[in-house]
Amino acid sequence: PDGRMEFHEWDLTPEEAAQVRDLNRYAQVWSASGESLLRTRYITSDLPLDTSALRAAASGSLVTTDQQFQSIPIRSLYYPLERMGAAHARHVLQIAAPLGTRDQMLERLVWLLAVITIAVGTATFAGGWWLGGRMVRPVDKIIDQAETIQAGTLGRRITAHVDIREYERLVEVLNRLLARLQDSFAAQRRFTADASHELRSPLTALRGEIELALRREREPEEYRRVLASNLEEVDRLTSTAEELLTLARSDSGVLQPRLRMTEITSTIEAAVHRVQPAAESKRLEVALEADDRFEALVDPILFDQLIWNLVENAAKFTPADGQVQVRLTRGPADFVIEVSDTGPGIPVDAVERIFERFYRVDPARTQSETRGTGLGLSIVRAITDVHGGTVTAANLPEGGAVFRVQLPLSPGTGADAAQPPTSA
Ligand code: ADP
Repeated sequence: PDGRMEFHEWDLTPEEAAQVRDLNRYAQVWSASGESLLRTRYITSDLPLDTSALRAAASGSLVTTDQQFQSIPIRSLYYPLERMGAAHARHVLQIAAPLGTRDQMLERLVWLLAVITIAVGTATFAGGWWLGGRMVRPVDKIIDQAETIQAGTLGRRITAHVDIREYERLVEVLNRLLARLQDSFAAQRRFTADASHELRSPLTALRGEIELALRREREPEEYRRVLASNLEEVDRLTSTAEELLTLARSDSGVLQPRLRMTEITSTIEAAVHRVQPAAESKRLEVALEADDRFEALVDPILFDQLIWNLVENAAKFTPADGQVQVRLTRGPADFVIEVSDTGPGIPVDAVERIFERFYRVDPARTQSETRGTGLGLSIVRAITDVHGGTVTAANLPEGGAVFRVQLPLSPGTGADAAQPPTSA
């Protein structure tokens, strides 16, 4: 009230004041005209005065400015003291704080961040490099081992890092792939060996017969007999070659059925009709039982071959006075053909094997005089496969074999279903 002003400040020795200089706040009260009215005792000279800030504060605004004081940067706040009462009208309080500590801290922070960034970056890079190396090394080893495996050494397996969980599956998959390759290589080798054997036997027989016939002059009748026998061998060779070709085409995926709407019942009737002469010579009864006449989308040539192979087998393997029955039933989306006979049936352990190439049950058991090539049923299976169907063999409880073929009425809904071949 009497207009006297003073700052209530701590008592600090000059050394203490110097120590806490940067933490201290300096205060000074100015008149509106820029006359120093009161000053904190921690400074020896007036704070620098920003006249425009003073003017603004004198007219009631709160203002801050950045300045230099005794060559250190400071920030000042100009406060209009009149807000405290009329006694202080046109007095301005300036509070200043050194910015040194803050600047220092910021500078240190920048350095610290830079060091941290570089350190973390380097560590991440080094760690990534190390981890990458560690991850890739086993793959390299697996590749090395895989590369040493050739067609002749398909029996080898990859053994590197089978114990590391992450690579266990990779190695397993590769090994399974190798096993499959090995199996199919072995099957191919067997097939080639069997095929050449199968082709060589009739050729040897032919050669023997011809050589024998040529040894001396013979009657025309005898030549005719030899030639007729030769023709039989040639026929056998031709059909074997054709069967081999069909299987080779099925293996390479070239066996594409040319699907047409085909009268199924008539096709089967025709096959039954064709087998009659052979059946009659053994007094076999061949019967066809069909629900109705219907059409299905099949390759007529392949389908005829399928039926013929089954009917011919039944007639071939059934002893005299037996019966062969062909039953045709139609379902909503498929149809089933069952060819059963009163023959010797199939040994239990051979039920699946008879579909293998060149597999024949011991002829003594089947008591069949006609030796086949052993390719017929593998062709049946190849044909049902390309039509998207199935074929199974079983024995009847009362004796005799039954072959059951199931085919869709219209294949071609699946992705790999048979498409009519393109002109290419
Ligand atoms: P192939 O008839 O030329 O010998 P297949 O592949 O047609 O060859 O048949 C393989 C084998 O399956 C035959 O050798 C025969 O032992 C057996 N088999 C086929 N059909 C019958 C059948 N209806 N009854 C008994 N065995 C059969």
